[in-house]
Amino acid sequence: MTAATNGKDRSRSPKKELKTDPSKLTDKDLKDGFSADEIFNSSTTMSGYTYDDLICLPGHINFGVHDVNLSSRFSKKITLRTPIVSSPMDTVTESSMAIAMALEGGIGVIHTNMSIEAQAQEVARVKKFKAGFILDPVCVPPTMTLEELDALKQKLGFTGFPVTDSGRMGAKLLGLVTKRDCDFIEDRKTRLTSIMTPVKDLVLAKEGIDLVSCNDMLQKSKKGKLPIVTESGLLVAMVSRTDIKKNVEFPNATKDPLNKQLLVAAAIGTRPADRDRVNALVSAGVDAIIIDSSQGDSVFQHEMVKWIKTNHPNIQVVAGNVVTKRQAKHLIECGADALRVGMGIGSICTTQEVCACGRAQASAVYNVAKLAKVYDVPILADGGISSPGHIVKALSLGAGAAMCGSLLAGTSETPGEYFYSEDGKRLKRYRGMGSIDAMKKGSDDRYFGTAAAIKVAQGVSGTVQDKGSIHRYIPYLTQGIRHGMQDIGAQSVQQVQSMLQDGQLRFELRSAAAQREGGVHGLHSFERKLFDS
Ligand code: GDP
Ligand code: 5GP
Repeated sequence: MTAATNGKDRSRSPKKELKTDPSKLTDKDLKDGFSADEIFNSSTTMSGYTYDDLICLPGHINFGVHDVNLSSRFSKKITLRTPIVSSPMDTVTESSMAIAMALEGGIGVIHTNMSIEAQAQEVARVKKFKAGFILDPVCVPPTMTLEELDALKQKLGFTGFPVTDSGRMGAKLLGLVTKRDCDFIEDRKTRLTSIMTPVKDLVLAKEGIDLVSCNDMLQKSKKGKLPIVTESGLLVAMVSRTDIKKNVEFPNATKDPLNKQLLVAAAIGTRPADRDRVNALVSAGVDAIIIDSSQGDSVFQHEMVKWIKTNHPNIQVVAGNVVTKRQAKHLIECGADALRVGMGIGSICTTQEVCACGRAQASAVYNVAKLAKVYDVPILADGGISSPGHIVKALSLGAGAAMCGSLLAGTSETPGEYFYSEDGKRLKRYRGMGSIDAMKKGSDDRYFGTAAAIKVAQGVSGTVQDKGSIHRYIPYLTQGIRHGMQDIGAQSVQQVQSMLQDGQLRFELRSAAAQREGGVHGLHSFERKLFDS
């Protein structure tokens, strides 16, 4: 018996006629479209659906677009004000991206395609980039040469360094070297002692001062850095002018409420050596560990989740990737604090072609989120997101946040340099972690391929166009998401998800023609400008 003839096909069951008397219309009579459960789990559903297959029907609006609250859970214990996560990919997330994402209210996951030391250092850079006091500023000794300082700047990305007698924190402050002290000095063998601004010329604050007074001093003195010293002149902290600006500009930042440091996540594999990686990342201050695997329901990953939860119970563990309820249940029962959902649907990914395994993303997100809800575990909809509308759909189907690779690739905070195409477009590279290029650099763990003689690619290498800074791009995305939520009639992510569960949120499937109709069509030519600001 086929799906169409099994007698349960809803489309063939006689529909009740609408009442002719308007005063007799009930809520039921006004129901249009279908609930998510009817779409994904009706007895006739045999297809997997993608975000583009679906459309959300509009609801009633009785609030402004700015009243939409996008706060949502990334994991059991981490809530984001912006439900967007940058993918652990070597063309997407290193410290600059993770800092920008956290400042904008999301979170970045530092990729694992580098040495343990390098990854721990990337994490430490995010943790040190806190708005407020820098409690552990990198110090230099007066004997250091400018050449050595250039190398340090290149490695760390800071421009100003306190000079202390031992070159360490907590020692006697001798001066400060900033960009202005170093520019235009040709002999890079010059020692810092002869070019630094000496302590007698610095504006200093005394230990115990509060942040508001520090900000006041920085504003009045117009200096870039305010070293904080003890009575006897030992350096205990520093405040940076840029951080005052950041505090003002980034009210949504994802921070630890106690020490105000930005939150950061980092990816690992499931090899025994990854336990050393976890230890190093935890020492560097990581807040969440993402176990990076295209098929997460493996004994290796189960062991890893349990090991991390036993040895580092305060660290949030995001397990995955999964696309079925059974996979999800296994990982949740090992202790996962969130799940990453998506297999073979990333923009750079060839898994479904090569391995014949995966699932259409809207079906995966809805079904896994439904199971995970039973355990109160959030899920991240990972991959296949190419517009704010896709994020609205991911949240509407139960995701706590959307993890994005290609959407964020090409922003100025991603690793890699811009270059120009032959037709003059400004581009950056974007590649799958299962592409041959990335695997040659070591990422083949994700695809269980390390020992294999032949590396089978599950991703491609490509390019994406320049999208400018995350600090302009994320506000565009969040505003788009807010508009979508407003159209649906949901004032918060929690509300849209409770509408999903009680069937109030209505969807329809889109035919190929409906999808064409829903995009730009019938024009001779057009220009797509994403936003105006
Ligand atoms: P800028 O020229 O004002 O951008 O200052 P820097 O390049 O020296 O520092 C930039 C950012 O790095 C500031 O937000 C600091 O809070 C942060 N930061 C974190 N740790 C350190 C550190 O050890 N030294 C310095 N100089 N900055 C740090
Ligand atoms: P995008 O946002 O570009 O559509 O997808 C990004 C996601 O694709 C990543 O978060 C990751 O889960 C997945 N991914 C990254 N590289 C590869 C790859 O080479 N192959 C496959 N199958 N998936 C990848």
